[in-house]
Amino acid sequence: MELLKGKTAIVTGANRGIGRAIAMELGRNGANIAFTDLVIDDSSKELENELNKMGVKAKGYASDASDFDMTSKTVEQIVKDFDRVDVLVNNAGITKDTLLMRMNEEQWDAVINVNLKSVFNYTKAVQMTMVKQRSGSIINMSSIVGIRGNAGQSNYSASKAGIIGFTKSVAKELGSRGVRCNAVAPGFIMTEMTSELPEDVKKEWVNQIPLKRAGTTEDVANTVLFLASGLSGYVSGQVISVCGAMQT
Ligand code: NAD
Repeated sequence: MELLKGKTAIVTGANRGIGRAIAMELGRNGANIAFTDLVIDDSSKELENELNKMGVKAKGYASDASDFDMTSKTVEQIVKDFDRVDVLVNNAGITKDTLLMRMNEEQWDAVINVNLKSVFNYTKAVQMTMVKQRSGSIINMSSIVGIRGNAGQSNYSASKAGIIGFTKSVAKELGSRGVRCNAVAPGFIMTEMTSELPEDVKKEWVNQIPLKRAGTTEDVANTVLFLASGLSGYVSGQVISVCGAMQT
């Protein structure tokens, strides 16, 4: 199925993990892909090649999503290279987990800037293009931790909760211009980010999941595909959890 034929999607933080799976899934469905990450390395070039083999245009851009000016310049270049932007997936994110008692200002600021400010930076940079087109779908990567909180992740859960408020506001502001905005809240997904957790913590997470397994990057990418495509044409301002029923 080519749900996104001829569309252009931007995916931030796509060198690995969930972002990479999203870029691949949107590409498989016919979208041209402009992706970003902190560096463009061999793995990014491999992603470009895999996407090209699917018959879609693909280009990686080295860009720090937490940097406002760099983001505007990157999006300007993407619009020059691809002519339009139909889908924006704000996926780039980091963790700097520690108890509040030990958290320093640098750990707070880094997580808020990369996870939350980046969503503002990219949404701001694409909004005029989408408004002029009178169509667009913005998908922001939140987390179930942004809904229910988590000990040791006050910075991360604040950033992910902030994304939810931002998503709902943007959906209300831009809805009349044909632009939709939704958030995805993954639960426990197996990626490099989560592989750093100790084995007993991973087991404990899986035990809490009614579907009794960790999620895959494809589980998240499939939900993003739905939100990016016309299949979700009347869905905006929503948060969809992809968590095996951990959060209901
Ligand atoms: P990951 O660490 O495997 O990948 C994140 C990617 O973002 C990396 O390629 C990294 O280089 C890039 N990145 C980091 N900082 C950046 C910046 N400033 N600018 C541009 N790119 C940057 O993480 P993941 O597990 O694939 O997570 C992707 C998103 O999903 C994140 O927003 C994360 O918070 C969210 N999420 C993940 C899980 C999970 O269980 N893995 C659960 C809920 C939400």
